[in-house]
Amino acid sequence: MDRLDLGMQLSIRRVALLFWRAVRRRCPNCGGSGLFATWLTFNHRCPTCGIALERGEDGYQVGSYMFNIIASELVFATIFVTVMVATWPSPPWELLLWGGGALMLVMPFLLYPFTKTVFLAFDLVFRPASHDELRTGAIGRR
Ligand SMILES: [Zn+2]
Repeated sequence: MDRLDLGMQLSIRRVALLFWRAVRRRCPNCGGSGLFATWLTFNHRCPTCGIALERGEDGYQVGSYMFNIIASELVFATIFVTVMVATWPSPPWELLLWGGGALMLVMPFLLYPFTKTVFLAFDLVFRPASHDELRTGAIGRR
């Protein structure tokens, strides 16, 4: 294994670790818990490492909203297609209609904390946390 392969492997391992922590609602940066005060409210900083959950930029939450919409749509589409294929040729259209609508109302709330941490993990892949950010919560500011 040459240096490039080792670097690539370490990078993939790091990305997998970030997302593994995120899908368990833990801080992607350190793995610490306590990011959320309730299901829908979060602390602004990780109590363990101090990283800001909204990393010092206006509109940062739009990314987690986008992840939330995509995840909700994927869950809806998976359940819809699975029920349709399993019950073909006479799918329960009424159940799919009303159940799908109810699912699209409930899923964003159920997925909210996960998409928040997953988006933070996604951001950390491309912009790892700096020492200044962990101390002050500001990116590129002193
Ligand atoms: Zn942390």
